[in-house]
Amino acid sequence: MKKYIEVEQARELILGDLDAALSSEKVDLLSSLDRIICEDVVADRDLPPANNSAMDGYGLRAIDSEPATQNQPLQMPVVADIPAGKPWTGQVVAGEAVRIMTGAPIPDGVDAVIRREFVEELDGAIILKESVRPGNDIRRAGEDIKVGEVVIASGTRITPAAVGMLAAVGMPYVSVVRRPRVAVLATGDEIVDFSQVPGPGAIRNSNSFSMAALVLQAGGIPQIFPIVRDQPELIRQALLDAVSGSDLVLTSGGVSMGDYDFIQDVIRELPDAEIRFWQVKMKPGKPLLYSLVASTPVIGLPGNPVSTMVSFEQFVRPLLKKMAGFPESELLLKKEPAIVLENLPAPGDRLHYARGVAERDEKGQLSVRLTGAQGSGILNSMVKGNCLITQPPVSTGAKKGSIVEIEWLDY
Ligand code: AMP
Ligand code: MG
Repeated sequence: MKKYIEVEQARELILGDLDAALSSEKVDLLSSLDRIICEDVVADRDLPPANNSAMDGYGLRAIDSEPATQNQPLQMPVVADIPAGKPWTGQVVAGEAVRIMTGAPIPDGVDAVIRREFVEELDGAIILKESVRPGNDIRRAGEDIKVGEVVIASGTRITPAAVGMLAAVGMPYVSVVRRPRVAVLATGDEIVDFSQVPGPGAIRNSNSFSMAALVLQAGGIPQIFPIVRDQPELIRQALLDAVSGSDLVLTSGGVSMGDYDFIQDVIRELPDAEIRFWQVKMKPGKPLLYSLVASTPVIGLPGNPVSTMVSFEQFVRPLLKKMAGFPESELLLKKEPAIVLENLPAPGDRLHYARGVAERDEKGQLSVRLTGAQGSGILNSMVKGNCLITQPPVSTGAKKGSIVEIEWLDY
């Protein structure tokens, strides 16, 4: 077991233990949103399937329109009316025009469309006062997608546009990486369910819900387990229950140095379990415990509500993203430099994640201030904050007006 390691090293150990993304499953099209697709999707036909009108207007032969001018308008009889979805099989010959709507297939003979607003129609003929270039306002067959082309490649994250594309090529179901199933367990003798009125010394369980919400936001499926009391046998049973059927187990509390912090002892005694590291050089979040139980990662998050959430952001979110098939470049929070609007104290020997409110002014300049009190129990700092201000260890602190690095919490 490693002890009191750097954030970077801790993350490498956690991510390094996961060889590959989870298996795939077929889901209906809309459920594929924000998931990673595991197949190359090939177009079954051209899109658009045929040349069609880009505008409501009139189709004609460009060459016929050449003599038309303001002073010498041309009259062209309208020989057909072509709405979208109703192909016309006739043929347009010299001097003729057809009334055609946006999306309607271009009939034989027509090689240009002029918009309705540019011509007059009188007694079944249009009055043309300008020439039209060949190809004008015609969308070509296959200009968006060609049959046989890979339209969405395996490994792509499915965006709303990709959902549209999958519909366009007729995919009611797609194969995507399975969502990680995450067991969420709060521990502590003082913790009561939020449905209860806390007695003396008790507090409501907020961590199970912030953890579960973070899991949902990171694309996982949380399962909230009952609160576990600080008794080794109860913790042992709960952990074993949680490990079976989960891709990841998250606990909160019980990983510090206290007399009732039993998680580490319990895991050490489990068969087929290994504690990989305990304690990370970060603030908040130092007591984090990372272990494998029957090959399932069990991450013991510290109990203080801010520590729980900040540790989740640094270690659990990247792991869930990797499980869900996201590429390396999308695992971590987005970083950006910002001007700090107040003095920040020196962080000591641990990387400090202060909670901040970052704002961009009209010129695009980003500045950040603290949310207020920074204790690891001040859940309000996470409620108000939209970023973490990272301060490297053993630095001197940051002066008001200097540049600091932030990590965005609004994804
Ligand atoms: P622990 O890490 O178990 O020593 O817990 C540290 C502190 O975090 C406790 O004193 C509680 O105030 C708080 N805490 C622990 N678990 C929870 C929870 N599930 N919900 C809210 N606060 C918690
Ligand atoms: Mg506790």
